[in-house]
Amino acid sequence: MSDTADAVVIGSGPNGLVAAAMLARAGWSVTVLERNEVAGGAVASASLTEPGYVHDPFSAFYGLMHFSPVFRELELYRRVRWASFELPAGAMVGPGRSAAVRTDPALTSAALAGIKGEDGAAWTDLYGWWTKVGRRFLNVILNPVGAVGPTLQFVGAAGVRGTIDTTRMSLASAATVARERFTSEEARVLFAAGISHSDVNVNDAASTPGAIALAMVAQSHNMPVPVGGAGRLAEGLVSAVTDAGGRVLTGHEVTRVVVEGKRAVGVETAAGLSVRAKRAVLADAGPPRLFLGLVGAEHLPFSFLAGIRRFRYGSGIFKVDLALDGPAGWDGEDLDRCGVIHVLGDLDNMARTSTQVATGELPDEPMLVVGQPTVADPSRAPDGGHVIWLETHVPPRPKEGAWPQIREQYLERVLDRLDRHAPGLPSRIVGQAVHTPQDLEAANPNLVDGDLGGGSNSLDQQLVFRPVPGWFRYSTPIRGLYLCSASTHPGGGVHGMVGRNCAKRVLRDAVIRRV
Ligand SMILES: Cc1cc2nc3c(=O)[nH]c(=O)nc-3n(C[C@H](O)[C@H](O)[C@H](O)COP(=O)(O)OP(=O)(O)OC[C@H]3O[C@@H](n4cnc5c(N)ncnc54)[C@H](O)[C@@H]3O)c2cc1C
Repeated sequence: MSDTADAVVIGSGPNGLVAAAMLARAGWSVTVLERNEVAGGAVASASLTEPGYVHDPFSAFYGLMHFSPVFRELELYRRVRWASFELPAGAMVGPGRSAAVRTDPALTSAALAGIKGEDGAAWTDLYGWWTKVGRRFLNVILNPVGAVGPTLQFVGAAGVRGTIDTTRMSLASAATVARERFTSEEARVLFAAGISHSDVNVNDAASTPGAIALAMVAQSHNMPVPVGGAGRLAEGLVSAVTDAGGRVLTGHEVTRVVVEGKRAVGVETAAGLSVRAKRAVLADAGPPRLFLGLVGAEHLPFSFLAGIRRFRYGSGIFKVDLALDGPAGWDGEDLDRCGVIHVLGDLDNMARTSTQVATGELPDEPMLVVGQPTVADPSRAPDGGHVIWLETHVPPRPKEGAWPQIREQYLERVLDRLDRHAPGLPSRIVGQAVHTPQDLEAANPNLVDGDLGGGSNSLDQQLVFRPVPGWFRYSTPIRGLYLCSASTHPGGGVHGMVGRNCAKRVLRDAVIRRV
Protein backbone atom coordinates (compact mmCIF):
# COMPACT_ATOMS: atom_id res chain seq x y z
CA MET A 1 0.00 0.00 0.00
CA SER A 2 1.36 3.44 -0.80
CA ASP A 3 0.14 6.98 -0.78
CA THR A 4 1.40 10.53 -1.24
CA ALA A 5 0.74 13.82 0.54
CA ASP A 6 2.42 17.20 0.81
CA ALA A 7 2.91 16.58 4.51
CA VAL A 8 2.75 13.51 6.73
CA VAL A 9 2.17 14.01 10.44
CA ILE A 10 3.27 11.18 12.74
CA GLY A 11 0.93 11.09 15.75
CA SER A 12 -2.43 12.69 16.41
CA GLY A 13 -1.93 14.39 19.78
CA PRO A 14 -3.23 17.94 20.04
CA ASN A 15 0.04 19.28 18.63
CA GLY A 16 0.00 16.93 15.64
CA LEU A 17 -3.63 17.74 14.88
CA VAL A 18 -3.13 21.50 15.21
CA ALA A 19 -0.09 21.35 12.90
CA ALA A 20 -2.05 19.23 10.40
CA ALA A 21 -5.04 21.58 10.48
CA MET A 22 -2.88 24.61 9.85
CA LEU A 23 -1.08 23.02 6.91
CA ALA A 24 -4.37 21.78 5.45
CA ARG A 25 -5.85 25.27 5.81
CA ALA A 26 -2.85 26.59 3.88
CA GLY A 27 -3.86 24.32 0.99
CA TRP A 28 -1.48 21.41 1.61
CA SER A 29 -2.60 17.80 1.32
CA VAL A 30 -1.98 16.30 4.77
CA THR A 31 -2.13 12.77 6.17
CA VAL A 32 -1.97 12.17 9.92
CA LEU A 33 -0.95 8.65 10.99
CA GLU A 34 -1.89 7.58 14.51
CA ARG A 35 -0.89 4.24 16.06
CA ASN A 36 -3.91 4.08 18.40
CA GLU A 37 -7.43 3.28 17.24
CA VAL A 38 -8.68 6.68 18.39
CA ALA A 39 -7.08 10.01 17.48
CA GLY A 40 -6.25 12.66 20.08
CA GLY A 41 -3.17 11.43 21.99
CA ALA A 42 -3.41 12.49 25.64
CA VAL A 43 -6.82 14.06 24.94
CA ALA A 44 -9.31 11.22 25.26
CA SER A 45 -12.26 9.93 27.22
CA ALA A 46 -13.31 6.39 28.04
CA SER A 47 -15.74 4.50 30.24
CA LEU A 48 -13.08 3.10 32.54
CA THR A 49 -15.26 2.09 35.48
CA GLU A 50 -19.03 1.59 35.68
CA PRO A 51 -21.74 2.03 33.03
CA GLY A 52 -22.80 5.67 32.69
CA TYR A 53 -19.50 7.13 34.00
CA VAL A 54 -17.22 8.88 31.48
CA HIS A 55 -13.57 9.39 32.49
CA ASP A 56 -10.63 11.27 30.99
CA PRO A 57 -7.61 8.94 31.27
CA PHE A 58 -5.15 11.76 30.51
CA SER A 59 -5.74 15.52 30.24
CA ALA A 60 -9.05 16.93 31.42
CA PHE A 61 -8.92 20.71 32.03
CA TYR A 62 -8.39 23.16 29.21
CA GLY A 63 -7.71 26.63 30.61
CA LEU A 64 -4.46 26.80 28.64
CA MET A 65 -6.23 25.88 25.40
CA HIS A 66 -8.75 28.65 26.05
CA PHE A 67 -5.85 31.09 26.52
CA SER A 68 -4.08 29.89 23.36
CA PRO A 69 -4.65 31.60 19.99
CA VAL A 70 -5.32 28.11 18.60
CA PHE A 71 -8.69 28.14 20.38
CA ARG A 72 -9.91 31.01 18.26
CA GLU A 73 -8.04 30.15 15.05
CA LEU A 74 -9.39 26.58 14.88
CA GLU A 75 -12.80 27.71 16.15
CA LEU A 76 -12.76 25.32 19.08
CA TYR A 77 -15.43 27.48 20.71
CA ARG A 78 -17.93 26.12 18.16
CA ARG A 79 -16.52 22.65 17.56
CA VAL A 80 -16.81 21.69 21.23
CA ARG A 81 -19.44 22.44 23.88
CA TRP A 82 -17.66 23.73 26.97
CA ALA A 83 -18.60 23.81 30.65
CA SER A 84 -16.93 25.97 33.31
CA PHE A 85 -16.73 26.05 37.09
CA GLU A 86 -17.91 28.53 39.68
CA LEU A 87 -14.58 27.84 41.40
CA PRO A 88 -12.08 26.83 38.69
CA ALA A 89 -9.15 25.90 40.98
CA GLY A 90 -8.48 25.45 44.67
CA ALA A 91 -5.66 24.43 46.98
CA MET A 92 -5.66 22.72 50.36
CA VAL A 93 -2.96 23.15 52.99
CA GLY A 94 -4.74 20.60 55.16
CA PRO A 95 -8.23 19.53 56.24
CA GLY A 96 -10.38 22.64 56.72
CA ARG A 97 -7.62 24.91 55.36
CA SER A 98 -8.15 25.87 51.72
CA ALA A 99 -8.34 28.74 49.26
CA ALA A 100 -9.89 28.88 45.81
CA VAL A 101 -10.04 30.96 42.67
CA ARG A 102 -13.58 32.20 41.98
CA THR A 103 -14.77 33.32 38.55
CA ASP A 104 -14.88 36.95 39.63
CA PRO A 105 -11.40 38.15 40.71
CA ALA A 106 -13.04 40.45 43.29
CA LEU A 107 -14.62 37.40 44.92
CA THR A 108 -11.26 35.57 44.97
CA SER A 109 -9.69 38.62 46.64
CA ALA A 110 -12.54 38.86 49.16
CA ALA A 111 -12.21 35.17 50.06
CA LEU A 112 -8.43 35.47 50.49
CA ALA A 113 -8.91 38.63 52.56
CA GLY A 114 -11.19 36.58 54.80
CA ILE A 115 -8.25 34.28 55.56
CA LYS A 116 -5.61 37.03 56.00
CA GLY A 117 -6.58 40.66 55.29
CA GLU A 118 -3.62 41.69 53.14
CA ASP A 119 -3.84 38.67 50.82
CA GLY A 120 -6.99 40.04 49.18
CA ALA A 121 -5.13 43.14 47.99
CA ALA A 122 -2.15 40.97 47.00
CA TRP A 123 -4.37 38.89 44.68
CA THR A 124 -5.93 42.04 43.19
CA ASP A 125 -2.44 43.40 42.57
CA LEU A 126 -1.27 40.15 40.94
CA TYR A 127 -4.36 39.98 38.73
CA GLY A 128 -3.86 43.63 37.75
CA TRP A 129 -0.31 42.76 36.66
CA TRP A 130 -1.67 39.75 34.76
CA THR A 131 -4.24 41.72 32.74
CA LYS A 132 -1.69 44.40 31.81
CA VAL A 133 1.59 42.49 31.54
CA GLY A 134 1.42 38.84 32.61
CA ARG A 135 -0.83 37.53 29.84
CA ARG A 136 1.51 39.09 27.28
CA PHE A 137 4.45 37.48 29.04
CA LEU A 138 2.76 34.06 28.78
CA ASN A 139 2.19 34.78 25.10
CA VAL A 140 5.95 35.36 24.71
CA ILE A 141 6.60 32.00 26.36
CA LEU A 142 4.11 30.15 24.14
CA ASN A 143 5.36 31.57 20.84
CA PRO A 144 8.65 30.53 19.22
CA VAL A 145 11.68 31.63 21.25
CA GLY A 146 12.68 35.10 20.14
CA ALA A 147 9.41 35.87 18.29
CA VAL A 148 9.55 39.63 17.81
CA GLY A 149 5.84 40.57 17.81
CA PRO A 150 4.87 39.02 21.17
CA THR A 151 8.08 40.31 22.77
CA LEU A 152 7.43 43.88 21.64
CA GLN A 153 3.84 43.68 22.91
CA PHE A 154 5.07 42.47 26.30
CA VAL A 155 7.84 45.07 26.63
CA GLY A 156 5.50 47.80 25.38
CA ALA A 157 2.94 46.95 28.07
CA ALA A 158 5.44 46.37 30.87
CA GLY A 159 7.86 49.24 30.24
CA VAL A 160 11.51 48.99 31.23
CA ARG A 161 10.83 48.70 34.96
CA GLY A 162 8.01 46.18 34.45
CA THR A 163 10.18 44.08 32.13
CA ILE A 164 12.94 43.93 34.74
CA ASP A 165 10.47 43.10 37.52
CA THR A 166 8.77 40.38 35.47
CA THR A 167 12.10 38.85 34.45
CA ARG A 168 13.25 38.79 38.07
CA MET A 169 9.98 37.21 39.19
CA SER A 170 10.24 34.53 36.45
CA LEU A 171 13.73 33.60 37.52
CA ALA A 172 12.78 33.31 41.19
CA SER A 173 11.39 30.15 42.74
CA ALA A 174 7.61 29.90 43.11
CA ALA A 175 8.06 29.49 46.88
CA THR A 176 10.04 32.75 47.07
CA VAL A 177 7.43 34.70 45.13
CA ALA A 178 4.56 33.08 47.07
CA ARG A 179 6.15 34.16 50.37
CA GLU A 180 6.96 37.66 49.07
CA ARG A 181 3.43 38.31 47.88
CA PHE A 182 1.14 36.41 50.27
CA THR A 183 0.93 36.02 54.04
CA SER A 184 -1.36 33.03 54.61
CA GLU A 185 -0.16 29.55 53.66
CA GLU A 186 -3.54 29.00 51.93
CA ALA A 187 -2.94 31.89 49.51
CA ARG A 188 0.67 30.85 49.03
CA VAL A 189 -0.17 27.31 47.95
CA LEU A 190 -3.03 28.57 45.77
CA PHE A 191 -0.44 30.72 43.99
CA ALA A 192 2.08 27.85 43.76
CA ALA A 193 -0.39 25.05 42.89
CA GLY A 194 0.68 24.92 39.21
CA ILE A 195 3.98 23.40 40.33
CA SER A 196 2.18 20.19 41.28
CA HIS A 197 1.43 19.62 37.57
CA SER A 198 5.11 19.41 36.66
CA ASP A 199 8.36 17.77 37.77
CA VAL A 200 9.94 20.99 39.07
CA ASN A 201 10.35 21.75 42.76
CA VAL A 202 8.60 24.77 44.26
CA ASN A 203 12.06 25.85 45.47
CA ASP A 204 13.68 25.60 42.02
CA ALA A 205 14.90 28.76 40.32
CA ALA A 206 12.59 29.81 37.48
CA SER A 207 9.64 27.75 38.75
CA THR A 208 7.39 30.83 39.03
CA PRO A 209 6.04 30.97 35.43
CA GLY A 210 4.48 27.50 35.80
CA ALA A 211 2.75 28.61 39.00
CA ILE A 212 1.53 31.90 37.59
CA ALA A 213 0.26 30.30 34.39
CA LEU A 214 -2.10 28.00 36.30
CA ALA A 215 -3.28 30.51 38.91
CA MET A 216 -3.86 33.37 36.48
CA VAL A 217 -5.26 31.31 33.59
CA ALA A 218 -7.72 29.79 36.09
CA GLN A 219 -8.68 33.33 37.10
CA SER A 220 -8.98 34.76 33.59
CA HIS A 221 -10.09 31.72 31.53
CA ASN A 222 -11.45 29.22 34.08
CA MET A 223 -10.60 25.48 33.79
CA PRO A 224 -13.20 24.51 31.15
CA VAL A 225 -14.06 20.92 30.32
CA PRO A 226 -15.70 19.62 27.13
CA VAL A 227 -19.28 18.51 27.77
CA GLY A 228 -19.29 14.73 27.36
CA GLY A 229 -15.56 14.21 28.05
CA ALA A 230 -12.13 15.20 26.78
CA GLY A 231 -12.72 12.99 23.76
CA ARG A 232 -15.07 15.67 22.41
CA LEU A 233 -12.05 18.02 22.18
CA ALA A 234 -10.09 15.34 20.31
CA GLU A 235 -13.00 15.05 17.88
CA GLY A 236 -13.09 18.84 17.52
CA LEU A 237 -9.41 18.90 16.64
CA VAL A 238 -9.83 16.05 14.15
CA SER A 239 -12.71 17.95 12.52
CA ALA A 240 -10.45 20.99 12.14
CA VAL A 241 -8.12 18.79 10.07
CA THR A 242 -10.76 17.01 8.01
CA ASP A 243 -12.86 20.15 7.36
CA ALA A 244 -9.75 21.63 5.75
CA GLY A 245 -9.31 18.55 3.55
CA GLY A 246 -6.73 16.65 5.66
CA ARG A 247 -6.92 12.94 6.54
CA VAL A 248 -6.50 11.29 9.93
CA LEU A 249 -5.76 7.56 9.74
CA THR A 250 -5.84 5.64 13.03
CA GLY A 251 -4.34 2.23 13.73
CA HIS A 252 -1.18 3.11 11.77
CA GLU A 253 2.04 3.03 13.76
CA VAL A 254 4.90 4.71 11.94
CA THR A 255 7.99 2.52 12.24
CA ARG A 256 10.36 4.35 9.89
CA VAL A 257 11.02 7.83 8.57
CA VAL A 258 12.45 7.33 5.09
CA VAL A 259 15.56 9.46 4.59
CA GLU A 260 17.07 9.89 1.13
CA GLY A 261 20.03 12.19 0.55
CA LYS A 262 19.75 13.73 4.05
CA ARG A 263 16.10 14.56 3.45
CA ALA A 264 12.93 13.03 4.90
CA VAL A 265 10.83 11.84 1.99
CA GLY A 266 8.14 9.78 3.68
CA VAL A 267 7.25 7.22 6.30
CA GLU A 268 6.46 3.52 6.61
CA THR A 269 4.03 1.94 9.04
CA ALA A 270 3.96 -1.37 10.88
CA ALA A 271 1.04 -2.49 8.71
CA GLY A 272 3.02 -1.94 5.51
CA LEU A 273 1.60 1.43 4.45
CA SER A 274 4.14 3.75 2.93
CA VAL A 275 3.32 7.43 2.52
CA ARG A 276 5.53 9.66 0.41
CA ALA A 277 5.84 13.21 1.76
CA LYS A 278 6.35 15.69 -1.06
CA ARG A 279 7.21 18.58 1.26
CA ALA A 280 7.53 17.67 4.94
CA VAL A 281 7.28 15.06 7.67
CA LEU A 282 6.16 16.39 11.05
CA ALA A 283 6.61 14.22 14.13
CA ASP A 284 4.37 14.50 17.18
CA ALA A 285 6.72 12.05 18.89
CA GLY A 286 9.34 11.81 21.62
CA PRO A 287 12.88 12.73 20.50
CA PRO A 288 14.74 9.54 21.52
CA ARG A 289 12.16 7.26 19.83
CA LEU A 290 11.97 9.49 16.75
CA PHE A 291 15.65 10.04 16.12
CA LEU A 292 17.24 6.85 17.48
CA GLY A 293 14.37 4.59 16.36
CA LEU A 294 12.35 5.86 13.39
CA VAL A 295 15.12 7.89 11.73
CA GLY A 296 18.26 6.01 12.75
CA ALA A 297 21.44 7.35 14.32
CA GLU A 298 23.36 6.84 11.07
CA HIS A 299 21.57 9.84 9.52
CA LEU A 300 22.36 12.27 12.32
CA PRO A 301 25.40 14.33 13.32
CA PHE A 302 27.24 13.25 16.45
CA SER A 303 26.61 16.47 18.43
CA PHE A 304 22.84 16.26 17.82
CA LEU A 305 22.79 12.59 18.82
CA ALA A 306 24.67 13.43 22.01
CA GLY A 307 21.95 16.00 22.81
CA ILE A 308 19.16 13.49 22.11
CA ARG A 309 20.83 10.91 24.35
CA ARG A 310 20.99 13.50 27.14
CA PHE A 311 17.27 14.38 26.81
CA ARG A 312 15.58 13.58 30.14
CA TYR A 313 12.01 12.69 30.95
CA GLY A 314 10.52 13.94 34.20
CA SER A 315 8.72 12.12 36.97
CA GLY A 316 5.83 9.77 36.27
CA ILE A 317 2.12 10.10 36.89
CA PHE A 318 0.05 7.76 39.04
CA LYS A 319 -3.42 8.28 37.62
CA VAL A 320 -6.59 7.36 39.50
CA ASP A 321 -10.12 7.60 38.08
CA LEU A 322 -12.98 7.11 40.51
CA ALA A 323 -16.72 6.74 40.03
CA LEU A 324 -18.62 8.08 43.07
CA ASP A 325 -22.28 7.70 43.95
CA GLY A 326 -22.37 11.21 45.44
CA PRO A 327 -20.31 14.39 45.82
CA ALA A 328 -16.77 14.18 47.20
CA GLY A 329 -17.60 16.01 50.44
CA TRP A 330 -14.50 18.20 50.77
CA ASP A 331 -13.49 19.64 54.12
CA GLY A 332 -12.90 23.06 52.57
CA GLU A 333 -15.15 26.03 51.88
CA ASP A 334 -17.16 25.59 48.65
CA LEU A 335 -14.74 22.97 47.30
CA ASP A 336 -17.57 20.65 46.24
CA ARG A 337 -18.18 23.28 43.52
CA CYS A 338 -14.52 23.50 42.49
CA GLY A 339 -13.05 22.13 39.22
CA VAL A 340 -9.49 21.24 40.22
CA ILE A 341 -8.49 20.88 43.87
CA HIS A 342 -4.81 20.70 44.71
CA VAL A 343 -4.19 18.77 47.94
CA LEU A 344 -0.71 20.04 48.63
CA GLY A 345 0.11 20.59 52.30
CA ASP A 346 2.23 23.70 52.90
CA LEU A 347 5.06 24.98 50.70
CA ASP A 348 7.56 22.90 52.67
CA ASN A 349 5.55 19.73 52.02
CA MET A 350 5.46 20.60 48.32
CA ALA A 351 9.26 20.89 48.30
CA ARG A 352 9.77 17.72 50.33
CA THR A 353 7.43 15.72 48.09
CA SER A 354 9.17 16.81 44.89
CA THR A 355 12.53 15.88 46.40
CA GLN A 356 11.24 12.45 47.39
CA VAL A 357 9.96 11.85 43.85
CA ALA A 358 13.21 13.07 42.31
CA THR A 359 15.23 10.72 44.50
CA GLY A 360 13.10 7.68 43.68
CA GLU A 361 11.06 7.57 46.88
CA LEU A 362 7.29 7.33 47.10
CA PRO A 363 6.05 10.55 48.73
CA ASP A 364 4.50 10.00 52.15
CA GLU A 365 2.23 13.06 51.78
CA PRO A 366 1.78 13.15 47.97
CA MET A 367 0.58 16.27 46.18
CA LEU A 368 -2.78 15.26 44.70
CA VAL A 369 -4.33 17.12 41.78
CA VAL A 370 -8.00 16.21 42.00
CA GLY A 371 -10.44 17.12 39.23
CA GLN A 372 -14.23 17.03 39.50
CA PRO A 373 -15.43 17.45 35.89
CA THR A 374 -18.98 16.35 36.78
CA VAL A 375 -19.43 19.51 38.88
CA ALA A 376 -19.61 21.45 35.60
CA ASP A 377 -20.69 18.59 33.35
CA PRO A 378 -23.16 16.24 35.08
CA SER A 379 -23.69 14.34 31.80
CA ARG A 380 -20.60 12.28 32.62
CA ALA A 381 -22.21 10.32 35.47
CA PRO A 382 -25.59 8.80 36.33
CA ASP A 383 -27.94 11.06 38.36
CA GLY A 384 -26.27 12.24 41.56
CA GLY A 385 -22.99 10.50 40.73
CA HIS A 386 -19.60 12.12 40.19
CA VAL A 387 -16.28 11.22 38.61
CA ILE A 388 -12.96 12.04 40.24
CA TRP A 389 -9.89 12.54 38.02
CA LEU A 390 -6.71 12.36 40.09
CA GLU A 391 -3.06 12.66 39.12
CA THR A 392 -0.04 12.62 41.39
CA HIS A 393 3.67 12.63 40.58
CA VAL A 394 5.66 9.54 41.47
CA PRO A 395 9.05 8.08 40.58
CA PRO A 396 8.72 5.88 37.47
CA ARG A 397 10.87 3.22 39.19
CA PRO A 398 10.41 3.62 42.96
CA LYS A 399 13.05 2.33 45.38
CA GLU A 400 10.22 0.59 47.26
CA GLY A 401 9.59 -1.87 44.40
CA ALA A 402 8.16 -2.30 40.91
CA TRP A 403 4.76 -0.70 40.24
CA PRO A 404 2.79 -3.94 39.66
CA GLN A 405 3.78 -5.02 43.20
CA ILE A 406 3.21 -1.70 45.02
CA ARG A 407 0.33 -0.17 43.14
CA GLU A 408 -2.46 -1.29 45.52
CA GLN A 409 -0.46 -0.17 48.56
CA TYR A 410 0.17 3.25 46.98
CA LEU A 411 -3.48 3.58 45.98
CA GLU A 412 -4.34 3.08 49.65
CA ARG A 413 -1.98 5.93 50.58
CA VAL A 414 -3.64 8.19 48.02
CA LEU A 415 -7.16 7.25 49.19
CA ASP A 416 -6.14 7.77 52.84
CA ARG A 417 -4.95 11.26 52.03
CA LEU A 418 -8.17 11.95 50.13
CA ASP A 419 -10.19 10.66 53.08
CA ARG A 420 -8.49 13.12 55.43
CA HIS A 421 -9.41 16.05 53.13
CA ALA A 422 -12.79 14.78 51.95
CA PRO A 423 -14.02 12.64 54.84
CA GLY A 424 -15.88 9.55 53.71
CA LEU A 425 -14.96 9.92 50.02
CA PRO A 426 -13.60 6.34 49.77
CA SER A 427 -16.94 5.00 51.00
CA ARG A 428 -18.65 6.67 48.01
CA ILE A 429 -16.46 4.88 45.43
CA VAL A 430 -18.46 2.56 43.18
CA GLY A 431 -15.76 2.00 40.55
CA GLN A 432 -12.07 2.73 40.08
CA ALA A 433 -9.30 2.56 37.49
CA VAL A 434 -5.61 3.02 38.25
CA HIS A 435 -2.79 3.68 35.80
CA THR A 436 0.87 3.50 36.76
CA PRO A 437 3.59 5.34 34.78
CA GLN A 438 4.21 2.21 32.73
CA ASP A 439 0.48 1.83 31.95
CA LEU A 440 0.42 5.41 30.63
CA GLU A 441 3.42 4.81 28.39
CA ALA A 442 1.84 1.61 27.07
CA ALA A 443 -1.23 3.65 26.09
CA ASN A 444 0.80 6.43 24.43
CA PRO A 445 4.52 6.09 23.63
CA ASN A 446 5.05 9.85 24.11
CA LEU A 447 4.30 9.47 27.83
CA VAL A 448 7.73 7.98 28.49
CA ASP A 449 7.93 6.71 32.10
CA GLY A 450 4.49 8.27 32.60
CA ASP A 451 5.87 11.81 32.14
CA LEU A 452 2.92 14.01 31.18
CA GLY A 453 5.04 16.86 29.82
CA GLY A 454 6.99 15.13 27.03
CA GLY A 455 10.28 15.70 28.90
CA SER A 456 11.44 17.28 32.14
CA ASN A 457 10.40 20.89 32.72
CA SER A 458 13.75 21.73 34.33
CA LEU A 459 15.24 25.00 33.16
CA ASP A 460 18.09 23.22 31.30
CA GLN A 461 15.45 21.63 29.05
CA GLN A 462 13.37 24.71 28.35
CA LEU A 463 13.40 27.44 25.70
CA VAL A 464 16.50 27.20 23.44
CA PHE A 465 17.52 23.93 25.11
CA ARG A 466 14.36 21.94 24.20
CA PRO A 467 14.85 19.24 22.94
CA VAL A 468 18.54 19.81 22.14
CA PRO A 469 20.45 23.05 22.67
CA GLY A 470 20.22 25.04 19.46
CA TRP A 471 17.45 22.89 17.89
CA PHE A 472 14.45 24.65 19.41
CA ARG A 473 12.79 25.93 16.24
CA TYR A 474 11.10 22.71 15.13
CA SER A 475 13.49 21.87 12.28
CA THR A 476 15.94 18.97 12.66
CA PRO A 477 19.27 18.03 11.04
CA ILE A 478 17.23 16.04 8.48
CA ARG A 479 15.81 18.42 5.87
CA GLY A 480 12.05 18.23 5.64
CA LEU A 481 11.72 16.57 9.08
CA TYR A 482 10.19 18.66 11.86
CA LEU A 483 9.46 17.97 15.52
CA CYS A 484 6.00 19.12 16.68
CA SER A 485 5.48 17.35 20.03
CA ALA A 486 5.48 18.64 23.61
CA SER A 487 9.16 17.62 23.70
CA THR A 488 10.06 20.90 22.06
CA HIS A 489 9.29 24.53 22.94
CA PRO A 490 6.96 25.54 24.62
CA GLY A 491 6.48 22.04 26.04
CA GLY A 492 3.63 20.16 27.67
CA GLY A 493 0.01 21.10 28.10
CA VAL A 494 -2.92 21.13 25.71
CA HIS A 495 -2.39 24.51 24.08
CA GLY A 496 -1.51 23.33 20.59
CA MET A 497 1.25 25.92 20.39
CA VAL A 498 4.02 23.48 19.48
CA GLY A 499 1.90 22.34 16.53
CA ARG A 500 1.05 25.91 15.57
CA ASN A 501 4.63 27.18 15.83
CA CYS A 502 5.92 24.16 13.91
CA ALA A 503 3.36 24.49 11.10
CA LYS A 504 4.27 28.16 10.70
CA ARG A 505 7.94 27.21 10.47
CA VAL A 506 7.17 24.56 7.83
CA LEU A 507 5.13 27.04 5.77
CA ARG A 508 7.85 29.68 6.04
CA ASP A 509 10.52 27.22 4.95
CA ALA A 510 8.32 26.27 1.99
CA VAL A 511 8.16 29.91 0.91
CA ILE A 512 11.92 30.22 0.91
CA ARG A 513 11.96 26.91 -1.04
CA ARG A 514 13.68 24.88 1.58
CA VAL A 515 10.91 22.25 1.64
C1 LIG B 1 -2.40 12.10 32.98
C2 LIG B 1 -2.24 13.40 32.22
C3 LIG B 1 -2.97 14.52 32.60
C4 LIG B 1 -2.82 15.72 31.91
N1 LIG B 1 -3.63 16.79 32.24
C5 LIG B 1 -3.60 17.90 31.48
C6 LIG B 1 -4.60 18.89 31.62
O1 LIG B 1 -5.55 18.72 32.40
N2 LIG B 1 -4.51 20.01 30.86
C7 LIG B 1 -3.49 20.19 29.96
O2 LIG B 1 -3.44 21.25 29.31
N3 LIG B 1 -2.55 19.22 29.76
C8 LIG B 1 -2.60 18.09 30.47
N4 LIG B 1 -1.72 17.07 30.22
C9 LIG B 1 -0.62 17.27 29.27
C10 LIG B 1 -1.07 17.15 27.82
O3 LIG B 1 -2.04 16.14 27.67
C11 LIG B 1 0.12 16.86 26.90
O4 LIG B 1 1.16 17.76 27.17
C12 LIG B 1 -0.31 16.97 25.44
O5 LIG B 1 -1.30 16.02 25.13
C13 LIG B 1 0.88 16.80 24.52
O6 LIG B 1 0.40 16.80 23.21
P1 LIG B 1 1.24 16.18 22.02
O7 LIG B 1 0.45 16.39 20.79
O8 LIG B 1 2.63 16.72 22.06
O9 LIG B 1 1.39 14.60 22.34
P2 LIG B 1 0.36 13.49 22.82
O10 LIG B 1 -0.92 14.07 23.29
O11 LIG B 1 1.11 12.64 23.77
O12 LIG B 1 0.05 12.67 21.50
C14 LIG B 1 1.03 11.98 20.78
C15 LIG B 1 0.33 11.02 19.85
O13 LIG B 1 1.28 10.50 18.89
C16 LIG B 1 1.06 9.12 18.74
N5 LIG B 1 2.31 8.51 18.26
C17 LIG B 1 3.52 8.59 18.85
N6 LIG B 1 4.43 7.90 18.11
C18 LIG B 1 3.76 7.42 17.04
C19 LIG B 1 4.16 6.62 15.91
N7 LIG B 1 5.40 6.18 15.76
N8 LIG B 1 3.22 6.33 14.96
C20 LIG B 1 1.93 6.79 15.08
N9 LIG B 1 1.51 7.49 16.16
C21 LIG B 1 2.42 7.81 17.11
C22 LIG B 1 0.65 8.65 20.13
O14 LIG B 1 -0.02 7.41 20.09
C23 LIG B 1 -0.25 9.81 20.57
O15 LIG B 1 -1.56 9.59 20.13
C24 LIG B 1 -1.88 15.83 30.85
C25 LIG B 1 -1.17 14.70 30.45
C26 LIG B 1 -1.35 13.48 31.11
C27 LIG B 1 -0.61 12.27 30.65
